[in-house]
Amino acid sequence: MLRMLSGLVLGLVVSWSALAATPEDLRKAAAVDGARISKADSEPGNWLSNGRTYSEQRFSPLKAINASNVGTLGLAWANDMDSTRGLEATPIVIDGVMYLTGTWSIVHAVDARTGKTLWTFDPEVPGQWARYACCDVVNRGVAVWEGKVYVGTLDGRLIALDAGTGKPIWSVDTIDGKAPYTITGAPRVVKGKVIIGNGGAELGVRGFITAYDATTGKQAWRFYTVPGDPAKPFEHPEMAAAAKTWKGGEWWKIGGGGTAWDGMAYDPDLNLLYVGTGNGSPWIRYLRSPGGGDNLYLSSILAIDPDTGRLKWHYQTTPGDTWDFTATQPIMLADMKIDGRDRKVLMQAPKNGFFYVLDRATGEVVSAKPYIGMNWATGFDMKTGRPIENPEMNFKDGKMKVIKPSPAGGHNWHPMSFSPDTGLVYIPIHEISFPYSYDTHHSYKQVPGWWNLGIDMDHLTDLTAYADPDKLSGYLLAWDPVKQEARWTVEYPGARNGGTLATAGNLVFMGAADGTFSAFNATTGERVWTVQTGLGIIAPPVSYELDGEQYVAVMAGYGGGVIAGAYDPASAISKYLNEGKLLTFKVGGGPVPKPTVRDNTIPEPPPMTASAETVAHGAKAFTKVCGFCHGFGAVSSLVAPDLRHISNETRDNLEEIVLHGALAGRGMPNFSDMLNADDVAAIRAYLIKRTHDLRDKTLPPTN
Ligand code: CA
Repeated sequence: MLRMLSGLVLGLVVSWSALAATPEDLRKAAAVDGARISKADSEPGNWLSNGRTYSEQRFSPLKAINASNVGTLGLAWANDMDSTRGLEATPIVIDGVMYLTGTWSIVHAVDARTGKTLWTFDPEVPGQWARYACCDVVNRGVAVWEGKVYVGTLDGRLIALDAGTGKPIWSVDTIDGKAPYTITGAPRVVKGKVIIGNGGAELGVRGFITAYDATTGKQAWRFYTVPGDPAKPFEHPEMAAAAKTWKGGEWWKIGGGGTAWDGMAYDPDLNLLYVGTGNGSPWIRYLRSPGGGDNLYLSSILAIDPDTGRLKWHYQTTPGDTWDFTATQPIMLADMKIDGRDRKVLMQAPKNGFFYVLDRATGEVVSAKPYIGMNWATGFDMKTGRPIENPEMNFKDGKMKVIKPSPAGGHNWHPMSFSPDTGLVYIPIHEISFPYSYDTHHSYKQVPGWWNLGIDMDHLTDLTAYADPDKLSGYLLAWDPVKQEARWTVEYPGARNGGTLATAGNLVFMGAADGTFSAFNATTGERVWTVQTGLGIIAPPVSYELDGEQYVAVMAGYGGGVIAGAYDPASAISKYLNEGKLLTFKVGGGPVPKPTVRDNTIPEPPPMTASAETVAHGAKAFTKVCGFCHGFGAVSSLVAPDLRHISNETRDNLEEIVLHGALAGRGMPNFSDMLNADDVAAIRAYLIKRTHDLRDKTLPPTN
């Protein structure tokens, strides 16, 4: 009794001081350094860095929530994120304070007991920058280090904030003002250096990773991931080796790609920083490097010395990538016994569909096996350490091929987790096919800052054919990395589900596009708890402990990448408005309030008076410019509104919106450099046609 009472009193005192939350308290809570992150297991109640530990296993040692009580899990508190687009961040939780990002790179500090906002920092990213973001105006979180909070902004800045007040201390332009880069990934801090990459390979940029001094913002080093203009000197020695693998072509005119936009991990013992790199720019290798070659360091895992920025080893997952098969997916480090040997491994399930186990000291391939069905490769050659490409799926002759996986990958950025207890990796999988083609009229003279993939865009007008709900499949896969085989799977009604969290309570937590948030028995895959939130979840959950109570938190808000299947009838967004929230659960919590029910009424469109020629012109212009966010075929359940549902008034104002930026502040950019009034009139006619198609039910409705 005495014990209970003192615990209660202590709890009350801590709660009171957290509520007081002076800037000094908050700075103290943010006193994270390398020693603390390296010993993260000694403070299991906190979530100190993106993947909780430098090894990025996303495993919580907490077990107060387990099979005996998970059934009573309910809402502890919710925080309205004032967002209607994708929420992807991993919250950092330290001593009762939660630091996270919403859309538009906005940073929030939240009281982890109550959900009360302590401060918010809005970097005021220009709405126009939305057009450079391939995959929504998302952000995957902050890093916290020695009293500062670091965020990479969509428009390429890295900003250090005072953890006490949310006020900027320093800000650097990591992209030197050059469009169309974006930052959506979370920074990591290693040995006093903030590491950040960027995205943009779909629109044409040259990838690089940069390290900045965490105190001053001064640049420590920069590693380019692909060679630049051959007429200019190499920036660092690794570029000489890379340049030998690029043959012909003029890739440097649109950057070459290789952007490092997400996955990183760090091994303090080996002092190696691991960074994943992305696809080529353009996608198609026959254009990018017509003489062949592997095109280093596209789609690769780089092991970098964080002190010097020099490359220690590299492993290329997809040599000569031509499918957008990035290796930016989450990187995870673990120690395990394989074939009787204790191995220090690095694991990744990149887009290309192979699960890789590498020796993280040397980059040697320990094993590689397909984790999904695929047809781009027929197997893996352990002698060469390369996938075996399927010659039947080659599209160099210009003929379109339907290939699996799609540019969405077998697994994308949605984090996987690893339980040292079960030895299993929990991966959110999607199986989607995509019509790969080759634009034989491709030009490097792209519209500056616009998509330049090298694929034949005409196939995308009809993308809905490949986004058939029957061909969209998503599931949770429990993968044994030692045996390289599936242990169990849990099917979901749609693709594009959330990241996973494994806990010592023998549970795996995962949200989904259909709005469910669930817990599974980590050994068997049995679903032991589920709640319908009404919000499509793509973000990964985290777990933390305060005053002896374990919590599980997840951001809920649908969005992210659109290409390769915009339409998902199983998504919660087809029933509810995408009113993004941060949701936190505990044993004995309450119900989750649902978002506003979506009005799926289709306004009576005007009669179709435009000629078939005008509608066809509108379809083409829509595909080239609008489809990336509003869905190809004007069928959308992601990112930006389904334009078949807009009011007649909005459709009549299309010119103001598209050519004069009337909604730029809300993230609908001005496209007057790409479209003229005739194009907009044709797009309007096309949208009227698509609204009629929907009313006539020639396409699946969104409700
Ligand atoms: Ca890409």
